[in-house]
Amino acid sequence: MKVLVYSANQYTRDMLDKANKGCDHQINYSDAPLTELTAILAQGYCSVCCFVDDDINAEVLRQLASFGVQLIVLRCTGFNNVDIAEAEKNRITVMRVASYSPYSVAEFTVAMMLTLNRKLHRSYNRVKEGNFLLDGLLGFDMHGKTVGIVGTGKIGATLARILSGFQCKLLAYDIVESAHCQQLGVKYVPLKELLQKSNIVSLHLPLTPDTFHLINSDTLGLMQDSAILINTSRGALVDTEDLIAVLKQRRLAGVGLDVYEEESELYYHDLRDQIIDDDNFSRLVSFPNVLVTGHQAFFTREALEEIADATIQNINDYEAGHENSNTIT
Ligand code: NAD
Repeated sequence: MKVLVYSANQYTRDMLDKANKGCDHQINYSDAPLTELTAILAQGYCSVCCFVDDDINAEVLRQLASFGVQLIVLRCTGFNNVDIAEAEKNRITVMRVASYSPYSVAEFTVAMMLTLNRKLHRSYNRVKEGNFLLDGLLGFDMHGKTVGIVGTGKIGATLARILSGFQCKLLAYDIVESAHCQQLGVKYVPLKELLQKSNIVSLHLPLTPDTFHLINSDTLGLMQDSAILINTSRGALVDTEDLIAVLKQRRLAGVGLDVYEEESELYYHDLRDQIIDDDNFSRLVSFPNVLVTGHQAFFTREALEEIADATIQNINDYEAGHENSNTIT
């Protein structure tokens, strides 16, 4: 199949070329993200391959359909950036990678928790400048602390397994209760109770109309002033302006954000020579107790290989007329 890969940086090209060995898909790459302006590049292709910040809105889908694109393969789990109803209307099949190394994101989440708790991001800079004072670097033992896991699917459950090794008390909130998590000692409680009782809250939900701005001034108001909030799921689970207001009032001890509501303008680009216009982003990174990373939680060798293999398998299955568990429409 002839496939155009959007948002294709070097590691994407390397991983897909490797996974395509032995298959005869004709894969071409574009550095550009998929937008209304770049959809035209897909003329002559049957399929496009996209990532988290490609904007697959109704207009883009109508353009792709008019060029004869029949398949969109996403190199990610979340599909909040695709107008699914419009894809169905235009008879475009959308496939994703529903499952790949949950360890990549769960382990990164723990790295964020420990960094914020023990202030490693600050001590790294201090020691470089010859400042060996410990003032301001005081942390707490993870042992015995309460961690609230919001969403106990593949990543949330993996996080629960890791944190049970720290002997944390684990609370969870999900519309589906996992027996595996309950066996680990996880206690399911309403979201309100989880937010009130947790020393650390970690978000592992998909972005849907139900979860959009789940964390806002009301829900942030339930959290302890000494709590840490981690979001490695999707930026718009958190209302950024409400979060900034709470941080300015010194009502959270730490915030770790691997994802950001308006990340598509920023992430995966080198903007070192540019002035960043997004004032909310600039305000967030200015707080000493906020750790921002550029949507990198998935970024391990194992995860990349699994994403690439599943993407090629999705194209193979589509060509063979087989639906698989990665088919969304
Ligand atoms: P999953 O589908 O296995 O788990 C999601 C869980 O959320 C499920 O248990 C589901 O029941 C629950 N859920 C859904 N809607 C809910 C609601 N309204 N209220 C309460 N619970 C709800 O997904 P996963 O593989 O664990 O991934 C979780 C999220 O992590 C993904 O949706 C994606 O957005 C994000 N993610 C981020 C990265 C990264 O690099 N930062 C990488 C992969 C995935």
